This record gives sequence, structure tokens and C-alpha cells, in this order.
Amino acid sequence: MKTLKKVAALLAAVVMSSALFTGCAKQKASGTIVFGTNAEFPPFEFVSSKGIIDQYDGIDIAVAKQIGDDNNMEVKIENMEFDSLLIALKNGQIDAVIAGMTATDERRESVDFSTTYYVAKQVMIVKEGSDIKKATDMADKKIVVIQGYTGETCVKEMGYKYEAFKKGTEAIMELVNGKCDVVVIDSATAQKYIGDNKGLVIVEDDTAFESEEYAVAVAKGNTEMLNKVNATIEKMLKDGTINELSAKYAESDDAE
Ligand code: GLN
Repeated sequence: MKTLKKVAALLAAVVMSSALFTGCAKQKASGTIVFGTNAEFPPFEFVSSKGIIDQYDGIDIAVAKQIGDDNNMEVKIENMEFDSLLIALKNGQIDAVIAGMTATDERRESVDFSTTYYVAKQVMIVKEGSDIKKATDMADKKIVVIQGYTGETCVKEMGYKYEAFKKGTEAIMELVNGKCDVVVIDSATAQKYIGDNKGLVIVEDDTAFESEEYAVAVAKGNTEMLNKVNATIEKMLKDGTINELSAKYAESDDAE
């Protein structure tokens, strides 16, 4: 009887300590997810004093934060040039790319993409009164794109000459200063830029620019990460959070 009691007490102690152990593990974040981005792409990612992860804010940053929260993991944002993102992913420097990145066939050759969370397209930003009314009107104009963006690929495929800048804001300054005639860039970001700069307008041409699907990129074969990302994105699409974030960040004026 005594021995039985002792065994029971021992068992109880083992059960309790393992419960305590799991309890502890649950309180602490179970690891970190490092997201790479290029915080030059409002409303998806930009630097702001009101940043939600460090100094970073935007639709993508809110999605990244939610992926972390849903998995009880911490989220770190690595800000780098857009062109470096997929290389950093392949090197294992980051776990995922969240950067308003279009899931193109070319990129699909080297990375896996999540469920689409936003649909955009390329548009042209011109000065008010410009005679550019459709994409083919750009033929003899000074075109500016952002290096490595799908806008660059589009203009290249059209066979037009262009100049590529590293930052959207630099491209817009060229236009504002009259040094170029048109900037080709993603629609939601274009909306932000024309809101910030009087005298600029957007020209759309659906016959020239196809819709583009934004998705999170993970290293090829990293299904564990992909499943985490997809679970959160699908939840946020279903419950309307992505729509709410898009509306909120389209209006807000926090980019610095
Ligand atoms: N959607 C564009 C692309 O994938 C631009 C993305 C970005 O600048 N962050 O190339």
C-alpha cells in the first residue's frame, strides 16, 4: 500500500512537472519568424514612427504580425533592397518574404508562394495634362520604373527604353521635377504617391497590364512555413481583416 502511494505520488509529480514544463513553453514565444521586406512600398510596407513592428508599418507588416501571433512566435522584420529579397530567402537569412510581391512564373521557379492576399496591376503615373492616355503612348517618352519590380518587366516586354530607380519615391521625384514623363508602378502604391504629390494622375490601361497577385514567398519546399502563412492569410481573407487593413492603410497618411 505504502509503495503504491509512493508510486502514485511520484507519477503525480512527473505529470505535474511535465504540465508545468509545457505551461512554460507556451508562455514564451516558440521561436522567431524573420520576414524580409523592402519598406519603400506604401501602403504595404513603409517606415513610420507609429510602426507596429519596430519602425515598420503597413498591410504586409500587419499580416506578418498576425502570422507570428497565430503561431505564438516572435516576428522580426529585415528591411533590404527589393532585388535582394529572394536571394536572402534562398540563403536562409530570412524565413519568408512579405513585400507586395507578385507571384510571377519566373519567381515560382525559385520559391514557393502562399495563397494570394491582394490583387493589383501596373498603372502609369503622369503629370496632369500629359498626352499619355494608354500604354503605347509611352513609346517615345521618358519612362521610369523601379528596379526589379514587375513594372520593369512589363516595360521591358513592351520593348520600350526606360530608366530604373531603386526607390519609388526617387522615381516620383523625377516625374515631379519634369525629368521623366511617366512612372510605371503597382496600383495601390501609385494611389499613395498621387495623394502625396499634387499635379500627378494615374492612367490605367487594362489591355496592356494584366492583374498581379501578391503572395508571401517561402523557400522552395518549406511546407511548414508555407502552412503557417497560408492558415493566417486564409483566415484574414475569410473574416474580412485583409479588406479592412487595405482600406485603413489606403487612407492613412503615416508613411514618412
Ligand atoms: N508587385 C511588384 C513586384 O512584385 C512590386 C513589389 C514591391 O515593390 N514591393 O515586383
